[in-house]
Amino acid sequence: MNYVVGVFIMATKALIIGGGIGGLAAALSLHRAGVEVTVCESVSDIQALGVGINVLPHAVRILDGLGLREALERTAIITSTLRFHSKQGQTIWAEPRGLEAGYDYPQYSIHRGQLQGALLDAVRQQLGDDAIRTGHHFERVEQTEAGVAATFVDKRTGAAVGEYEGDVLIGADGIWSQVRAQFYPDEGSPVYSGQMLWRGVTESAPVFDGRSVIMAGSNDLKAVIYPISEESRRAGTSMLNWVAERQLGGSLPLNPADWNRLGNPDDFIPYFADWQFDWLDVPALFTEAERIYEFPMVDRNPLPQWSFGRVTLLGDAAHAMRPNGSNGASQAILDAEAIARCLSDDNDVERALLAYESERLQPTSQLVLDNRETGPERVLEIVAERCPDGFDKIEDVIPHDELQAIADSYKKLARFDRESVNQPK
Ligand SMILES: Cc1cc2nc3c(=O)[nH]c(=O)nc-3n(C[C@H](O)[C@H](O)[C@H](O)COP(=O)(O)OP(=O)(O)OC[C@H]3O[C@@H](n4cnc5c(N)ncnc54)[C@H](O)[C@@H]3O)c2cc1C
Repeated sequence: MNYVVGVFIMATKALIIGGGIGGLAAALSLHRAGVEVTVCESVSDIQALGVGINVLPHAVRILDGLGLREALERTAIITSTLRFHSKQGQTIWAEPRGLEAGYDYPQYSIHRGQLQGALLDAVRQQLGDDAIRTGHHFERVEQTEAGVAATFVDKRTGAAVGEYEGDVLIGADGIWSQVRAQFYPDEGSPVYSGQMLWRGVTESAPVFDGRSVIMAGSNDLKAVIYPISEESRRAGTSMLNWVAERQLGGSLPLNPADWNRLGNPDDFIPYFADWQFDWLDVPALFTEAERIYEFPMVDRNPLPQWSFGRVTLLGDAAHAMRPNGSNGASQAILDAEAIARCLSDDNDVERALLAYESERLQPTSQLVLDNRETGPERVLEIVAERCPDGFDKIEDVIPHDELQAIADSYKKLARFDRESVNQPK
């Protein structure tokens, strides 16, 4: 945002803490709004970490506006269908997604690292290399009436690496947010659902049309499988991202939410032994992965407040949610667009951050809570309860209208119903 004071043009200076999906999307959005941005990222070398992630059409609309669509479509799968299957592999529900469903924007299934990499390249090109300070682990922010001052250390050594000043500070530092912890010092660890997730990627033959997201099973034992590489699809194979989910109960394991912790195949593959469907051999898919990561299903309780004077929260730092509904990255991108718009609509930074909070806090809190009830995956629970041993005809188990109503209500809640996404700009 540029605003005129006398004859000088003053630009708002924003410090963004965290160069993940939300932080980088915010950097691009704020830059477009005329805000001067510095992104401070804890790690010294941003690598292509994680496995698959979905980006829903409302977030793709924003990424398109940031000029990223071409880069993303070189690597992302343009998702055609979302499919729900029972534990026996039977089809419960299949619905078209993105372009196939008449949206003006696609849904992407993509490697998280490729998404982050595309955002990072765009930030470097559009804002310059200097806009990203890696090796800057946020410690603390102080506020005065005129601005913010944040201190950073090198996480590996603990040595101070600098103090930066700005007009506004945005905490986009993920589920273990240090910015959030400064305002909620007693919050502690994320909330554990009792389920463990094992994640991996396996090269395979295409499943269904090679562009479908598949969810099978129910809360006690579930698999989520989708392709994430357009290069592999063009070569006639499929790079399948998968998540195996098992109810363990108990309390949060030690060292709970490290995205890079390796998992043990014996902890989950035997439980899927009879998941050999005519459309996929699920245990073989898991077994053939080169690397398996383990991550507990966690989230954070909704907060009453995100904005404190000139400081606010964004993405997982504000509203880490369970992955049901595939909304984490998309909601972070929606936050990024909203904060840039609010800061460009109002020269008063504190008022702008309150406007951002009042637009985004309530809908994302509702999503956090709805995802605890498994979001759109609720259909899996209903079918598992009503006919645990499988069914002859799905219509006898759950009427089509009930399935449609569950799918539609989640889209409205997460604000990616077709009417909202296709609204003229
Ligand atoms: C390494 C990694 C792997 C992931 N893998 C997956 C995956 O496979 N599937 C999936 O669905 N989601 C994954 N996620 C989470 C997913 O990216 C987020 O849920 C979602 O995209 C919202 O993004 P975000 O920007 O809010 O948070 P994140 O993408 O988590 O980004 C937060 C960023 O803040 C940085 N950071 C943390 N603390 C500090 C600090 N004190 N100072 C400065 N920087 C800090 C982190 O290094 C990270 O780059 C992963 C996250 C990470 C960090």
